[in-house]
Amino acid sequence: MKNQKPHLWAIAQSKSIARVLTAICIATHMSSYSVADEQSKTFRAGAFAIDISPVEFPVIVNGSMTQKTAGKIIDPLHARCLVLDDGEGQIAIVVVDSCMLPRELLDEVKDLASSATGIAPNRILISATHTHSAPSAMGALGTDRDDRYCHFVVPRIAQGIQRAQKNLVPAKIGWAVGRDEKNVGCRRWLMKPGVAPTNPFSGTTNDRATMHPGYGNENAIEATGPVDPSVTILSLQTLDGRPLALLANYSMHYVGASAVSADQTILVFFAAR
Ligand SMILES: [Zn+2]
Repeated sequence: MKNQKPHLWAIAQSKSIARVLTAICIATHMSSYSVADEQSKTFRAGAFAIDISPVEFPVIVNGSMTQKTAGKIIDPLHARCLVLDDGEGQIAIVVVDSCMLPRELLDEVKDLASSATGIAPNRILISATHTHSAPSAMGALGTDRDDRYCHFVVPRIAQGIQRAQKNLVPAKIGWAVGRDEKNVGCRRWLMKPGVAPTNPFSGTTNDRATMHPGYGNENAIEATGPVDPSVTILSLQTLDGRPLALLANYSMHYVGASAVSADQTILVFFAAR
């Protein structure tokens, strides 16, 4: 399939992250080591990005206050799967283009993947990118779960883990943490008593805090908490330096799209193979 890219995997959570990561790679010393050099242990890594775009439409999309549907794909959705093996055991890390993934769905995926790969369910970590433009895997606010999509996506994610395991090769790993203060902010603000608007989630009218009070709002006192400007990256390469995968994390909310989309949150930096 065109969008399935074995030996190629990268995820970042904002458009600006390309610039950020470039700067980090230049400015930051990356800790790295190759376990392959150590006596009997051989560190291996395998990656696979499996396409999880819906194939039947319309699909229910969650992330809004009321239910909406999408009838087309703007850009494909993926489950990006990474398997790491230190010579003694294996773990899997998966990042899914989805708004939210409920525990019961994740348990189904882990059971399937564990049966196929031998990796214990408690060694499999699955997260969602929180795009607001993906089929609903979990009811939220006024939106139902899309059962048809859930039946489709559970075995697909498990299959992605299986393919990542098949791609295991001796590897080296490096990591770094940079900072990008520009594109993060706390959207929840403490308000002067009695001025916060009706809470759209609970219907309460006497809240002290509200989301997005608006720039320069004189009734907004201060942000209710700190922000995390960290840009954390984990890089995996073959022993001769060929890129295998790059996992990055940056604290941002969604951007938004009119139909099915990973929400412009995915950037692939490496050339295929
Ligand atoms: Zn959200």
